[in-house]
Amino acid sequence: MTSLRSRVVSALTLIFVLGASALAAGPTVSLAVDATEAPRKIIHAKLRIPATPGTLTLYYPKWLPGEHAPTGPVIDLTGLKFAASGKALKWRRDLLDGWTINVEVPAGENEVLADLDYVEPATLEQGFSSGSSATDKLLVLSWNQVLLYPKGWKSDDITFTASLKIPDGWKYATSLPVSNANGSDVHFSPESLTMLVDSPVLTAQYLKVVPLTVGPEPSAELDVASDSAAALEPPQEIWDRYKNLVTQAGALFGAQHYRHYHFLYTLSDHVAHFGLEHHESDDSRVSERGLVDETERKLTASLLSHEYVHSWNGKYRRPAGLATPDYQQPMQSDLLWVYEGLTEYLGAILTARSSLWTPDQFREYLADVAADLDHVPGRNWRNLQDTADTAPQLYFAPHYWYSWRRSTDFYDEDTLNWMWVDAIIRQQSKGKKSLDDFCKLFHGAPGGPPGLKTYTFEDVVNTLNQVAPYDWRGFWTERLTNHGPGAPLGGIEETGWKLGYDDTPTDYFRSDERDHGEVWEMYTVGLRLREEGGVVDTIEGMTAAKAGIGPGMRIVAVNGRHFSAEVLHDAIKAAKGTTEPIELLVENTDYYKTFKLNYHEGEKYPHLVRDEAKPDLLSDILKAR
Ligand SMILES: [Zn+2]
Repeated sequence: MTSLRSRVVSALTLIFVLGASALAAGPTVSLAVDATEAPRKIIHAKLRIPATPGTLTLYYPKWLPGEHAPTGPVIDLTGLKFAASGKALKWRRDLLDGWTINVEVPAGENEVLADLDYVEPATLEQGFSSGSSATDKLLVLSWNQVLLYPKGWKSDDITFTASLKIPDGWKYATSLPVSNANGSDVHFSPESLTMLVDSPVLTAQYLKVVPLTVGPEPSAELDVASDSAAALEPPQEIWDRYKNLVTQAGALFGAQHYRHYHFLYTLSDHVAHFGLEHHESDDSRVSERGLVDETERKLTASLLSHEYVHSWNGKYRRPAGLATPDYQQPMQSDLLWVYEGLTEYLGAILTARSSLWTPDQFREYLADVAADLDHVPGRNWRNLQDTADTAPQLYFAPHYWYSWRRSTDFYDEDTLNWMWVDAIIRQQSKGKKSLDDFCKLFHGAPGGPPGLKTYTFEDVVNTLNQVAPYDWRGFWTERLTNHGPGAPLGGIEETGWKLGYDDTPTDYFRSDERDHGEVWEMYTVGLRLREEGGVVDTIEGMTAAKAGIGPGMRIVAVNGRHFSAEVLHDAIKAAKGTTEPIELLVENTDYYKTFKLNYHEGEKYPHLVRDEAKPDLLSDILKAR
């Protein structure tokens, strides 16, 4: 708790408007990107970089905003060559940092031409923006992947004049202002490096633009690209719900920090699935049937809400330690419980306020989140703060040993914690105030073009106190440093609900389980399995772990019958109230063994149950404004 405070009190609050290129103090780099070979998964780029004789140090963007980690895909930077006045130049990589390139510039030269290629993953690779991004029909272009920038300047101070050639017949969408476009040749207005990297381009054969606002700026639109035309035709009411999302976010925050917002939504089974926030757009990617299939839609309903909230919480208001001057300086992730945790909570409630989820679906989602966190014995050694502090590594942790290692829990656990904050504000103010008031104060007026206002732990506590006086420092210190044993369920309980279990899975639970290709018995015997029986995780202290089963093993048979999800579920049901153990035949590193599970409590699936002793604040929280 002292380290948390000592780390933040010295930081300054900085407010400035980003990227007015006319005022930029640094060099102007021109960048011509040729994406016509995107279906072959190779992107070509040429740069013209001002230089002086001697060593020119160039950086390939390493720490990417929103990814909170050194994920710049330098291994996919290929075809790198430099020239001046038609002669090839010598270059060598820095021995201590693979993202730094030193080029020898001869006397008399004032400009270096760089040629480079970015090679896309050739098979489906998950991950963030460096995961799969190109198919036969579409491409998400992240500018940071196709550029180098000179050392010695902030990204705000370097101007880039970019152009992009896209495959014939493809359309494009981006928040980057266009100066002129001629067919598949697009030229963009000069922008700071900051705003260029913050403005990816979605280009595709099948791309649909849906306006989400009417009337004056700031406006918003949904740009959806897919591998097929059919995937772009959900029922009309789906578009209406995304219109609601813009209205509801406007009502929540009271002001916008963008000129025009583009939801860039990619529907493909051949790209990485994730969402990445920007000031004036988001790069969100789900499966091809993500809009037209009802189940897929339900499971991914909160993605665009989450990324949209980031325009306020994460881009405009950003922890001081994440607001680095360029992509080379490491980021400090200790306040991700605000950056990501509050975004996850607000994204979820806006999903319900926009009717993208029904209140029932919201509660089914929340029950899953709470039950999952209530079965994380890793909190015994790692507190919530450490999940944020170690985020740059934890994002890339395998699923094996998930519950003992802990994951990036500052998303889900802080959903519960910010709900708790919402409940406390409502109680302390006798119903006059809510977390919405915090959002207006912290993220709202005056609004305008993209800006950045940094904050510290103190600023969060002070603004909460402005909304409703309370021991917020004590609240957050406890939430961030305690070791459980269980999940923080106070928010659910104070909003009038309880986490309970019965023998019937919710729709959301079963859909989510199938979508993961897994079999979930976490809350009964403590097993999370692949569909074919491979053990992904065993929860320390629960029946399967105590019997001797561990991640990496494979369940071959249940009570003598070949393993399947149904066979396991049936065996757990049948053992209820008996004294006969469930027998699992398990393969481990070529050896077979039988393990006996003495578990007799039957199936357990999480639900939220109404607590009539308390007012139903949750239903108020979820109501459209
Ligand atoms: Zn996020």
